[in-house]
Amino acid sequence: VLLLKNKTILITAAGQGMGAASALACANAGAKVIATDVNADLLAAFKGVAGIETRQLDVTDAEAIKSLATELPDLDGLFNCAGVVHHGTVLDLTDEDWDVALNINITSMVRMCRAFLPGLLRQADSVGSSSILNMSSMASSEKGFVNRTAYGATKAAVIGLTKAIAADFVVRNVRCNALCPGTVNTPSLQGRIASAPDPVQAEKDFIARQPMGRLATVDDLTPTIVHLLSDGSRFITGQTMLVDGGVTI
Ligand code: NAD
Repeated sequence: VLLLKNKTILITAAGQGMGAASALACANAGAKVIATDVNADLLAAFKGVAGIETRQLDVTDAEAIKSLATELPDLDGLFNCAGVVHHGTVLDLTDEDWDVALNINITSMVRMCRAFLPGLLRQADSVGSSSILNMSSMASSEKGFVNRTAYGATKAAVIGLTKAIAADFVVRNVRCNALCPGTVNTPSLQGRIASAPDPVQAEKDFIARQPMGRLATVDDLTPTIVHLLSDGSRFITGQTMLVDGGVTI
């Protein structure tokens, strides 16, 4: 069964990691995917992949977001996946780092939702529903982690934004949910491991905080992402979906 047949879905930060895996999974589920990323070289890997078209988009560029929304057809699904990790306590956090975290992790989502909601509302009016999925994390209001001040605070804000949008638009059949992954083996996680003072120990520490004893693969997440963008989740809105291998048991 093609769970996303006839659905047009835009994904931010689809150049690598969970965004890229989601683009492929959504296309395999029958969606027409618009895969966006700030890095056009990464998007080039989708050339020739059936069901995926690509657009360069920097989610911190307010004007680019507005003009993309006017160019594209109305969406059935929007997956705001972009996010960055700042490593450090509140004592290590400069105002510049904080601005970067706020901009990429939460302000971008406000702007994406504001720009694409009119189309999502039109689509809900015409076909019955549409869905927004926002990337949060288990490191948010769900749980505190060491050295994740800016990350945890901004990912908690994602959950607040998600619930507010869900409340405002539930009667218009636009759903909005947040995804809270555990530790997922992606290029940026590998970067965090490689840049640690002791990379072997850093990888062990990331695995140790996962009760299942392993990192998630991107495809531990993609079935849930497809589900939350599909009509199979039509009675689910305003929720934080933890896919964390048991960390928050
Ligand atoms: P990643 O961090 O490896 O890749 C991030 C992608 O974002 C890259 O393709 C990059 O080019 C793109 N990007 C960076 N800045 C951008 C911008 N301004 N505009 C558009 N694109 C931009 O991928 P990942 O680890 O799968 O992380 C994706 C999301 O999942 C992030 O929001 C992250 O916080 C969240 N998350 C990750 C983990 C994990 O363990 N990897 C866990 C929980 C949540």
